[in-house]
Amino acid sequence: MAFERTLSIIKPDAVAKNVIGKIYSRFEDAGLKIVAARMTHLSREQAEQFYSVHKERPFFKALVDFMISGPVMIQALEGEGAVAKNRDLMGATDPQKADKGTIRADFADSIDANAVHGSDSSDNARIEIGFFFPEIDIYLR
Ligand code: UDP
Repeated sequence: MAFERTLSIIKPDAVAKNVIGKIYSRFEDAGLKIVAARMTHLSREQAEQFYSVHKERPFFKALVDFMISGPVMIQALEGEGAVAKNRDLMGATDPQKADKGTIRADFADSIDANAVHGSDSSDNARIEIGFFFPEIDIYLR
């Protein structure tokens, strides 16, 4: 496993539910370290740019509307196999299909309000961390 970083976003539904701390505990209990963090309210332009890979998908507008509906908590996580570890902690995109004990199974309501985002590859993690934290050194030790 590689020592790496990944980007995580606690989405507006989970911020509104007041479970940032509970979700952070899951990262920490799994051995992931929070190395950068910022709470922000995304602009439409930022959300559209961040999710531009999905711009032709039917759910794109609803996804952007949802992501700008309230504040989000954005963090870079670091650790052995951080990308895959975070995806395991998150669970499947659709919370109804997510394994028991995952963040989405426990805190998400639907496929569109699904509590968290996590980079899906190491390459995307570098791009996504650079998008939100241009000031931090994104190269691995
Ligand atoms: N999404 C949605 N409807 C769908 C598929 C995806 O609203 O049918 C949203 C959902 O919030 C998801 C995001 O689009 O988290 C990005 O989709 P992706 O397939 O990348 O899922 P993820 O990597 O977040 O599990």
